[in-house]
Amino acid sequence: MFYRSTRNSGVNVTSAQAIAQGISEDGGLFVPSEIPAISMDDIKKLGEMSYAERALFVFSKFLTDYTEAEIRYCVEGAYNTKNFDTENIAELAHLFDGTYMLELWHGPTCAFKDMALQILPYLLTTATKKINLDKKVVILVATSGDTGKAALEGFKDVPGTEILVFYPDNGVSAMQKKQMTTQEGQNVGVCAIKGNFDDAQNGVKAIFTNKEIGEKLAENGMMFSSANSINWGRLAPQIIYYVSSYAQLLKDGEIAEGDKINIVVPTGNFGNILAGYYAKKMGVPVNKLICASNANNVLTDFIKTGVYDRNRQFYATISPSMDILISSNLERLLYHLCGENDAQIREWFGKLASEGRYEVTDEVKKILAEEFYAGCCDDEKTKATIKEYYDKYSYTCDTHTAVAVSVYEEYVKATGDKTKTVIASTASPYKFSGSVLSALGKDNGSDEFTLVEELGKASGMPIPASLASLKDKEIRFSEVIAKDEMKDFVFRALNVK
Ligand SMILES: *Cc1c(COP(=O)(O)O)cnc(C)c1O
Repeated sequence: MFYRSTRNSGVNVTSAQAIAQGISEDGGLFVPSEIPAISMDDIKKLGEMSYAERALFVFSKFLTDYTEAEIRYCVEGAYNTKNFDTENIAELAHLFDGTYMLELWHGPTCAFKDMALQILPYLLTTATKKINLDKKVVILVATSGDTGKAALEGFKDVPGTEILVFYPDNGVSAMQKKQMTTQEGQNVGVCAIKGNFDDAQNGVKAIFTNKEIGEKLAENGMMFSSANSINWGRLAPQIIYYVSSYAQLLKDGEIAEGDKINIVVPTGNFGNILAGYYAKKMGVPVNKLICASNANNVLTDFIKTGVYDRNRQFYATISPSMDILISSNLERLLYHLCGENDAQIREWFGKLASEGRYEVTDEVKKILAEEFYAGCCDDEKTKATIKEYYDKYSYTCDTHTAVAVSVYEEYVKATGDKTKTVIASTASPYKFSGSVLSALGKDNGSDEFTLVEELGKASGMPIPASLASLKDKEIRFSEVIAKDEMKDFVFRALNVK
């Protein structure tokens, strides 16, 4: 299997090359040349396996240039109980009849980003060896809060790599900020920017695709790569937990062979839900992919109308990891939906860059309506949902997951659909203790660590040691820069003149 660029179908690289490079030189994203199929027999067999073995199976379909031994080394290094606090790695909690919470936050940083970012350093360092890259890989990250910490934790002190993270100064939770600014490791850098996530992401993309900067780095024996979900090495690991969930539900007798399931995903950059789409195209029986947004509902409008329009108010919400107006991975979906027509993608994304708006064809609109349902919910509704599930099911969910739950309820009301449903739970409520407690009417205005303890009392859930221990760590990174100073920061951090 090879990887193409969404903006140039003539690009033909191995998965190792795609993962090492992160983004195509033309600014497009790498996509697999075909989507490999898995059978119901395969899925049944997966039911008997560990998460790492399931991962090995799925990766072997996409990373065909990696040897089995290489993939095994990667999955065993990442998906184990040293890194995750549950043997199942991705826990499937039975919420109520026919509805399951796919808890993707049992990793070291308490958000679903760990599912991919625990393994990405393995995939990437294996890739650089395979293609004989003797350059230091500089990982540039733009984060809306969770990716940054998960990437820092994954890459800290990984030989041959350096990682620099940019986050919006006023766009992350107190706990998220603490997690990043106290990061340990010799090869890490963290910087806040005066702007929002889109500014950070645009800045990083601009640095990536700037020839001059690239040449400067090369002179110094370095190259850029990405740990954002524009990197295929972020997307591929996310497909696994959807395949794994189906295998698990089948094994547990919750569904019968061939039964369809719905998948609900709280969405920002469209990476997580796109992984669900790939799982479906591989052969996992999926009915609807339900795309849930917060007040930044550009995707809701897009899926409903086929018009993508980022010219709108940006809201800072209590689900900050979804405060995004430019959802990068939509480009991959549209590339597949428009028949891999790279000229069409160049046109649409050219318009997005110049006018902030594009409209897809009627044909694409039709497929969007068949495959997806979209909805959104504001902060008030998010909080009401947290309270409702706490009272009704004694289940405490975080603010992002609550957005998904709320949109799912709206979907059931609108359609009456009784298909069994997996809801992606993307963060531990402890990461957003203040907002969760406030939803429960228990916020007493304390600092984030007291809030964590309060939430522990209210929820009865074990407090993640990785969050509790931040209290005593020193702040290492406190720099705040303007969004046009990102390049200077990068050169400074890398000691490039
Ligand atoms: C990143 C993130 C999301 C959004 O995921 P995308 O793949 O960007 O759509 C949702 N919830 C949480 C907690 C996140 O960290």
